[in-house]
Amino acid sequence: MSQQIYLDHAATTPVAAQALEAMIPYCRKLYGNPSSSYALAQDSRQAVEEARDVIAGAIGAKSHEIYFTAGGTESDNWAVKMSVFMQKQDGEAKPNASEKKHLITTKIEHHAILHACEWMEQQGYEVTYLPVDEQGVVSVRRLKEAIRPDTACISIMYANNEVGTIQPIREIGAIAAEHGIPFHTDAVQAFCQIPIDVKEQKISLLSASSHKCYGPKGVGFLYIDEQYGMPPFMHGGAQERQMRAGTENVPGIVGFAKAVAICQENMEERMQRERALRDYLIRRILTEIPYVRLNGYAKNRLPGNANFCFQFVEGEHLLVLLDMDGICASAGSACTTGSSEPSHVLTAMGLPRDLANGALRLTLGAHTTKDEIDVTVEAIKRHVEQLRSTSSWYLEFTGEQPKCM
Ligand SMILES: *Cc1c(COP(=O)(O)O)cnc(C)c1O
Repeated sequence: MSQQIYLDHAATTPVAAQALEAMIPYCRKLYGNPSSSYALAQDSRQAVEEARDVIAGAIGAKSHEIYFTAGGTESDNWAVKMSVFMQKQDGEAKPNASEKKHLITTKIEHHAILHACEWMEQQGYEVTYLPVDEQGVVSVRRLKEAIRPDTACISIMYANNEVGTIQPIREIGAIAAEHGIPFHTDAVQAFCQIPIDVKEQKISLLSASSHKCYGPKGVGFLYIDEQYGMPPFMHGGAQERQMRAGTENVPGIVGFAKAVAICQENMEERMQRERALRDYLIRRILTEIPYVRLNGYAKNRLPGNANFCFQFVEGEHLLVLLDMDGICASAGSACTTGSSEPSHVLTAMGLPRDLANGALRLTLGAHTTKDEIDVTVEAIKRHVEQLRSTSSWYLEFTGEQPKCM
C-alpha cells in the first residue's frame, strides 16, 4: 500500500507519542502494584492519583469523583445497570431501590448503552427510547413527557458517534436536576474534542474512553457526582476506593492522562483546524458529487465528523474501494461493520433504508491534512461515479444506458 489516509478517528485514534513515552517507565522499572506497601508500589499509586487529577480537571470534576475502568463500554454498562440503585447522599430517607423501575435513553445511543438497556428490560425494568429529529437531536419536550416518579436515570449521549450531532446537554441536565433524577451522558466522542463542565451542565455520571482521544486502548473512566452513592459494578479488591475492583491499568491510566493533558492544552486550536478542514470536505463533497446528503447538523456537530449518504451507492462497496486506495473510513459505527443492517442512528433520523445503506462516515483527527482530504474527495468522486454507472437503480433514475464493464 503506497499511502495510508486515516479518516476513522471516531473508531479509534493513534496513541500520541508523548503518551506512549509516559507509559513505558510503568511497564519497565515502575511496575509495582499500586496496592502494595513498598516504595516501588508508591510510585505507581502516585502516578494513578496524578492521572486522576488531570482527568478530573478536564471536565471540572473533583478527583475523587473519577473511577478508572477498562473503557467506554464498561463505564456505560456500570452507569446503566447500577444507576437504578443510585441514592442521594443527603441523609434523607432513601427510597427502596426496587421502586425505581424506569430508565430513559435515546434511540441513537452506542450499543454499549442500547444493549445494556435491552438487558435491563429483560430483568423487568422499563426503558423509554426517546426519538430524535432528522438532524439527530433528541427532543427535550419528549424527554419531559417521559419522566415518571419511578425514573431512576436519564442516559443521553453527549455527541453521536456516527453523525456527530451534539445534544442539548445543558438543557437536559437542568431538566434532570429539576426532577431530582441522575443524568448520565456517554461522552466518549465528545471528551477532549469539545469543552465539558460536569458541574455547570449538571451531569451526574459521565463515561469516557482513552483510545478515542489519543490514549491507549482498554482504559476509560466513569465520573460519579459525589452527591450520589452508587454500587460498584466489579466486585473484588479494594481498588478505586472499593468502587472498581481489579489491579489498576497503571501504564494505561498514565498514558490516558498524558493524552488528555495534550488534548486540553491545544483543544481550541485543534477544534478550529478540524472544523475548517471538515467544512472544506463537506463543501467539496456536496458541490462536486450529485445526489449526496449530509447527515446530522451542519454546524452543531463534532469538529472532526462528516457523514454522508450517497444515493444509489452501497456504503459497504464504497468502503472496499476506498480501502484499496489506502483510505480508512467507515459506513457508520465500527460496531455495525460486517452487518448489512442499516445504521440504527440514520434509521432513527428518518432516513429510508436504501439511503441509509449509502452512508459514509469520515472522521478527521489532529494530524489530518488538506492534502489527505483532497486525495480522499477525488477517490470518492471516482468510486461513486463508477458504482453508479453499474447500478440499474441509478440508470433507471437518470434514463442512461448501462456502460460496458
Ligand atoms: C467507542 C465508543 C464507546 C465504547 O468505548 P470503548 O472504550 O471502545 O469500549 C461507547 N460509546 C461511544 C459513543 C463510543 O464512540
